[in-house]
Amino acid sequence: MSAQDADGGAAAEALAGGPVASDGGVAAGARMAEVAATFGRPDLDVATGVLDWYTAERAALGGGDPSSVAIVDAHTHVGEHDPDTMRCSPDELIAHLVQADAHGVVFPLREPGGYPGPNDAVIAAAAASGGRLTAFGRVDPAVEPAHEARRTLDAGARGLKLHPRGEEFQLDDARLEDTWALAHERRVPVLVHAGRGIPSLGAHAVQVATRYPGVRLILAHAGISDLAWIGRQAQELPNLYFDTSWWAPADLLTLFATVPAGQILFASDAPYGRTPITALEIIRIARQSGIDDERIKMVLGAQMQRLLAGEEPLDGGQPSGATKVDVDVLLDRVATYLTAGFGQLVARIPSTEMFALARLSCAVPADSPQAAHCRVIVDLLDAYERSLALEMAKEVPGVLPGAVHLLALALNVARTPDVPVPTELELE
Ligand SMILES: [Zn+2]
Repeated sequence: MSAQDADGGAAAEALAGGPVASDGGVAAGARMAEVAATFGRPDLDVATGVLDWYTAERAALGGGDPSSVAIVDAHTHVGEHDPDTMRCSPDELIAHLVQADAHGVVFPLREPGGYPGPNDAVIAAAAASGGRLTAFGRVDPAVEPAHEARRTLDAGARGLKLHPRGEEFQLDDARLEDTWALAHERRVPVLVHAGRGIPSLGAHAVQVATRYPGVRLILAHAGISDLAWIGRQAQELPNLYFDTSWWAPADLLTLFATVPAGQILFASDAPYGRTPITALEIIRIARQSGIDDERIKMVLGAQMQRLLAGEEPLDGGQPSGATKVDVDVLLDRVATYLTAGFGQLVARIPSTEMFALARLSCAVPADSPQAAHCRVIVDLLDAYERSLALEMAKEVPGVLPGAVHLLALALNVARTPDVPVPTELELE
């Protein structure tokens, strides 16, 4: 993954974006431009079978009516200049959100030329989206952050985005004081990249949330760098939130075990993630954690709707505390090999052996309690391999396949043994 990778975080950010490595020089620059022209613009289309599954889960939460369950994706991007080569236009993002019947909070990808222009474009796209999108302004601490924050909020943005990795700063940066004060005064959400590729920022996040109780501080990517300890702090800080744009089931199970559901906000990180697939994963993790339907709906959108409207948040009660999850050793074998294959894929090491072992681990007797989960996992692995073959045929060097979202879902199924799976999954 390139050192310049703008936003390393979600499953696909770790897995589907970016060239192999920045090897520098003109040739690499030319190759990156070539890659950007092709593979950096991912196909966001989600297989009908997965969409049907997502819609069925949503209907189950909504008493039979899927559209009664608001899906608000708290973290999506558009942009055409990110050095990691990811590209997404407002029209592409909107088509994806329409497919998911979801609303999206959108802000710019990394923009080496500065944020005022891209922020204006995002605000204009949101205004023209018929309510599909809500804009956040992306602020660089090095370039009049409070001015840009005020300007974008006055122009229609409903929150702010900070990226400590993309813009190379830490959350205790003195240049941000006026920005925090403004966000506090206006009680707006501020979403901060957290997790992969940066040092721990949890201690600074706790300080900001304590000093500015009006700020709704959202740590992206499940706050994984600080997830070992920050849940207990979050229970005392109702204005500290976490988004769910991350792939690893253990992290998401920890999030629900230690952080109140009212402080967990669904997000996919599209175009790195996929809105309906991540939503499906979060519903399964929440159910495995024993979270009730009302709280799951809070996570999926009801809470973010209130934050965007400037209303008082809903009370999500205590975290599940479910840190002891039963391990089904047969499904644990599947998850072990899928995780190992995942790691190899990211490192660009051939991963076919690990996925072959995952398949063999799924060959349980047809009447065993794991059979339904194993059947779905094999279906997802089949679809992953078909999709991978298509992507590889394009022979674009060094870019991870978008098919990886199907693997993340397969891993999720292996780690949610107590949550039912569809009796039929049509992925052809
Ligand atoms: Zn992101």
